Amino acid sequence: MLKGGKVLSIAVLSLLLFLAACAQMEERDNLEETTKTNSSASEKQTALIGTKKEMIQPKKIEQEITLSAIGDILVHSTVYEDARTESGFDFKPMLTHVKPFLNDTTITFANQETMIGGEAFGLSTYPRFNSPFEVGDALKDVGVNVVSIANNHTLDRGEEVVQRAIKHWQSLDMMYTGAYQDEADRERLRIFESEEGISVAFLAYTYGTNGIPVPDGKNYLVNLIDQEIIAGEIARARKQADAVVLSLHFGNEYERMPSEAQKQLVQFAADQGADIVLGHHPHVLQPMDWVEGKDGKHTLVVYSLGNFLSGQDEFYRRIGGIAQMTIKKTIEADLETIEVMTPKFIPTFVKYDDRSHFEVIPMYQLTEEDLTDAAAHYEAIKAHMSQWMPELEFIED
Ligand SMILES: [Zn+2]
Repeated sequence: MLKGGKVLSIAVLSLLLFLAACAQMEERDNLEETTKTNSSASEKQTALIGTKKEMIQPKKIEQEITLSAIGDILVHSTVYEDARTESGFDFKPMLTHVKPFLNDTTITFANQETMIGGEAFGLSTYPRFNSPFEVGDALKDVGVNVVSIANNHTLDRGEEVVQRAIKHWQSLDMMYTGAYQDEADRERLRIFESEEGISVAFLAYTYGTNGIPVPDGKNYLVNLIDQEIIAGEIARARKQADAVVLSLHFGNEYERMPSEAQKQLVQFAADQGADIVLGHHPHVLQPMDWVEGKDGKHTLVVYSLGNFLSGQDEFYRRIGGIAQMTIKKTIEADLETIEVMTPKFIPTFVKYDDRSHFEVIPMYQLTEEDLTDAAAHYEAIKAHMSQWMPELEFIED
């Protein structure tokens, strides 16, 4: 009896749900019908429906996603020796304090400055790096889902290390951009498709490869900065994705302000319609800015994201950060617009004692014990990053 009652109530519930769904569908059909009628209606008809017109305006759809970006992961031997375990390497403890800020955005980008060719091929430090695979595992673990591998260290240990690194990124299902397995791999645009229905293309280029020539006929091994190619690729990406992020490995090392050459290239990228430019290579932070392109759109630029994790010891080379932004897509009457907004920044510091216990710490969390005059340094970095962008927000909780 009880069982029968339950079955009956389930049947009634299902019927109700079915009717509700039908009603909803009908409502949607009506809306589509009226929208269609409205768009094809003459002015006279429009006037006739009068006040009803307001109710049947095509719907405005708004969607948002967020992006985080970090700079150079430069794995010196001090860093990988510190990460060494009995069975391999573990870089995850170095990123514990920053993980909450990296895995809370829809997309997280990093510049993997050193190739992760793995230990079997022989690890190496400056000036020609080869890093453990586990660097990639740690980035994956903290939420990174796009890496740029176009930089001046890409060819440090030759083609084989690039290929070994790419195989490892593939095994992690990580989107890599800027260096490729072969020509077909390079032809495939890197487009992140978010669940929110916003697609973001990632292009990456470097100014050079420390004088190491790109092997003949193998230009796919690293993307070099070439304005004509960049313009073509931005145009191709704009056709296939909602937003375009351009990663540029450029500028002068250790300079805290962008060079004229950086500014000119960023202006060029803005004119081509790039939505976001993520700069890196100087190993120190350079300010953020909005750069207006020729069509009036404003491109969000981080001139240099600094070092995120490295063994470098000069003060400003131990400071990097996490840039965050929102990408908003609005669809209204067949018109799609993309807006980059609410820029945020979290300055970070590479803490270590006696070249071990490397950890990346948000600067607002630093104690006097971690860094003398921590609060004053933090304020100075905030002022530096926001000097051209007064509205830049700093996340402090
Ligand atoms: Zn570099």
